[in-house]
Amino acid sequence: MRTGGRAEGGNDGTRERRGALRAPKDVGADRGPPFVQPGPDPSNPLHIQPIQFVGSFPDAGVRVDPDLPEIAFIGRSNVGKSSLLNALVGRPGLARISGSPGKTTLLNFYRVPGFYLVDLPGYGFARAGKAARAGYRKLVTGYLQTRASLAGIVWLLDIRHQPSADDLDMQNLLAESGRQVLTVFTKADKLTRSGLPVRAAELAEALGLQQDQIQLTSSKSRLGISELATSIVAAAGEES
Ligand code: GDP
Repeated sequence: MRTGGRAEGGNDGTRERRGALRAPKDVGADRGPPFVQPGPDPSNPLHIQPIQFVGSFPDAGVRVDPDLPEIAFIGRSNVGKSSLLNALVGRPGLARISGSPGKTTLLNFYRVPGFYLVDLPGYGFARAGKAARAGYRKLVTGYLQTRASLAGIVWLLDIRHQPSADDLDMQNLLAESGRQVLTVFTKADKLTRSGLPVRAAELAEALGLQQDQIQLTSSKSRLGISELATSIVAAAGEES
């Protein structure tokens, strides 16, 4: 996976049409127990590191001690962010697989010795009101635009769905932030072996991205998890 990519803002005239795509109404539809994690994977550099929950903070300017690079995770509510974080670090209960998507409005910090993983709240929760949306935007925009220690963002999209208006809005925010973005397609196990590359190509095209800018993952089958962990460690500036 190419890690130096930036999110591309859509400027090819198709933005409006793409922006009109609606998010599917499946939020909460495929909730279930956390996937069983096999033992540590020696090819996953995050499995051999101790990891510690630091805290949940409502403020993009929060000071954490020590000051270390941060890799942030963001995606639409129910995209599989908690499951992916748990799979990446090999700890099924670390990030909560929430039963009520969209409720978290906090930045959750986890420390891997040399850097932090930061779980940003999910966006696009269908029932979120206007005030909640505004509060969300302020928190996330503030974090993306001003956080000096932010070294990279892992942006998640469910491989089965066309990008929603919220996804495209986020893509613009990411592009504006100028940060390094690792784009990840989640839940790859939901597609057939032959359908997966076709769908991955379609979704990459809808986002204006090259296929080598995308990492396919499944928290269930482990596809792409150790590769993503390796990209994250590199983006945080560590050797794996
Ligand atoms: P979040 O809201 O983005 O944190 O998403 P969760 O991790 O809570 O996952 C939402 C739902 O999708 C849960 O029911 C998960 O079990 C399911 N899910 C997450 N990742 C995968 C995956 O890789 N494959 C499959 N089949 N289901 C997944």
